[in-house]
Amino acid sequence: MNPETSALKESERLMTICNACRYCESFCAVFPAMERRRTFSSGDLTHLANLCHGCQGCYTSCQYAPPHEFAVNVPRAFAALRVQTYADYAWPESFGRVFKRNGVAVSLAMALGLGLVLLLTFGLREPSVIFGTYAGAGAFYRVIPYAAMVWPFGLVFAFAIFAMIMGGVRYWRATNRKSRAKLSARTILAGVWDVLTLKNLGGGGGGCNYPLESFSTARRTWHHFTFYGFMLCFAATSVATLYHHAFGWAAPYEFTSLPVLLGTAGGIGLLIGPVGLLWLKLKADPAPQLREMLGMDVAFLLLLFLVSFTGLALLALRETSAMGTLLAVHLGFVLALFATLPYGKMVHGVYRFLALVRDAGERKTT
Ligand code: SF4
Ligand code: SF4
Repeated sequence: MNPETSALKESERLMTICNACRYCESFCAVFPAMERRRTFSSGDLTHLANLCHGCQGCYTSCQYAPPHEFAVNVPRAFAALRVQTYADYAWPESFGRVFKRNGVAVSLAMALGLGLVLLLTFGLREPSVIFGTYAGAGAFYRVIPYAAMVWPFGLVFAFAIFAMIMGGVRYWRATNRKSRAKLSARTILAGVWDVLTLKNLGGGGGGCNYPLESFSTARRTWHHFTFYGFMLCFAATSVATLYHHAFGWAAPYEFTSLPVLLGTAGGIGLLIGPVGLLWLKLKADPAPQLREMLGMDVAFLLLLFLVSFTGLALLALRETSAMGTLLAVHLGFVLALFATLPYGKMVHGVYRFLALVRDAGERKTT
């Protein structure tokens, strides 16, 4: 990462002030991690920025926040550095540019994904096939063949996972050159536990100063809905894949089957969570927020909502003549989601996890 960038310079300036002040040392994991250092390398600053979850607590409490001449605004400075992290460690490198105007890029991906699947479906299938009514095993594949569904989507998804792993490896290598973190299975598990419980979003227990100055656990709650909704949908797809290949049971499955139960629960979570998070974003004080990050957040949450909404609509109307169109629309949004996973807000999960692991390692060492 270029040490001369303004995001790094501003973060270093703020951490130097905060390290002298230390008023916020009990607010989150960032300040204790900051206090372990006297100087800040670009790797340290990037680590601290990814440890910050933008709760706004330190901004709300800061006596040096604007209009004070020190203009301390840690959440905003760290948000700028996180956007730079996402761009700098993207794989392939040239794709990092997508983060500059991410909201526009994700919207374009949505339009392209939707347009492509609709065009292929309506271009290659007769209207009588698309608007037919089907029931029982293999119904979906009578409109869109199994191979046409699995291969392109599987390849895009595999690429997305590989690109995110490569980004994580590049980030870890670049930010841990002189790390004092002691890594072990225990510290990795501690990082996993922090992700699963979103412990840091709970503040000291009473929540964060988000979206307004009063303490609230709303963000943690909506984030849980979103995270576990996504994981349940992923589990549903995995079980369905196992059913198909191991037992030869073709979708769609009964409403009481495991993939449908998991997918329904996950889909509901992915409706509630993104709506809750979007609502909080609208209410939140804009001063500590970064416009680029806001666009990225909104685009990602909207895409998750649309994937879930169209998936649940497909489930509800799968035995009607709307099934073919809904299937194409749902797959269009899924394609856009897969394609943008390594170049949108999803990557924050990778870097935050690595920052939490490193933090757990540092806590163990000191
Ligand atoms: S954010 Fe403000 S109050 Fe908190 S440690 Fe930094 S300078 Fe002090
Ligand atoms: S915004 Fe929240 S998480 Fe980030 S440094 Fe401030 S108190 Fe910590």
